[in-house]
Amino acid sequence: MVACCGLTAAYDPRIEHYLECTGYPGGGGRSVTEISKELYCQPFSALEESQRRQVIITQELSHTWVNKHHLTPPTIYSHACTKEIEDTSPQPLLPCIECRAIYKSRIFKNAIRRPKPLDKNFIHTNHRYQPAFLGKIYARSISVRELLEEKSKNTPFVRYALGVLQGKYDDEVFEGLTQAILTKYDKEERGVGMQNFKYSPAYEDFVNIIRITSPAAYRTFKEWFPAKSFESFR
Ligand SMILES: [Zn+2]
Repeated sequence: MVACCGLTAAYDPRIEHYLECTGYPGGGGRSVTEISKELYCQPFSALEESQRRQVIITQELSHTWVNKHHLTPPTIYSHACTKEIEDTSPQPLLPCIECRAIYKSRIFKNAIRRPKPLDKNFIHTNHRYQPAFLGKIYARSISVRELLEEKSKNTPFVRYALGVLQGKYDDEVFEGLTQAILTKYDKEERGVGMQNFKYSPAYEDFVNIIRITSPAAYRTFKEWFPAKSFESFR
């Protein structure tokens, strides 16, 4: 016997899409609407904060499956997983009977049938499905905390970086300048010069035009911004 392999993309590729779309640790169980009616005889939207909390907790405790995003590959297990299966290798392993029962359930079929939202729509995903607490731990561990902090969001640096990554800008000269400046600071930190740095062609052309038009302007420019020496343009 071996440990149950659970439900993965190998069983159905839509399982991976589903897990990519939800940060939630589980699914299935009773609907929020049904629980609200049973506990408070009102729709969820009419409830007070503390009542909503009760409904959400009750819903979570009724989950029938667990999402294990951290496993490779990401896997879903039934709450009732039998934990062991027969070793059928070299044939592919089949999830245990309880995990397969989850796969066959209507609620699970509906969950994995939903199309994957475009990245830009992820922001509209229900906040309940974006665990902020885990997000903070993740951000801390990959050193991007500063980028995600509220105070950073409106700085021109973060806005520019996001714009570049989203392909919004097409300014090759400015991109070349940014690359050159970042490299210059990086090399300064390591105590080395700009020798052998390859400026981007667009930025190099731009600097060359300044140099040809006005050597005086070029010298002033070079005091502030990284550029090749006057002679090396020839
Ligand atoms: Zn199982």
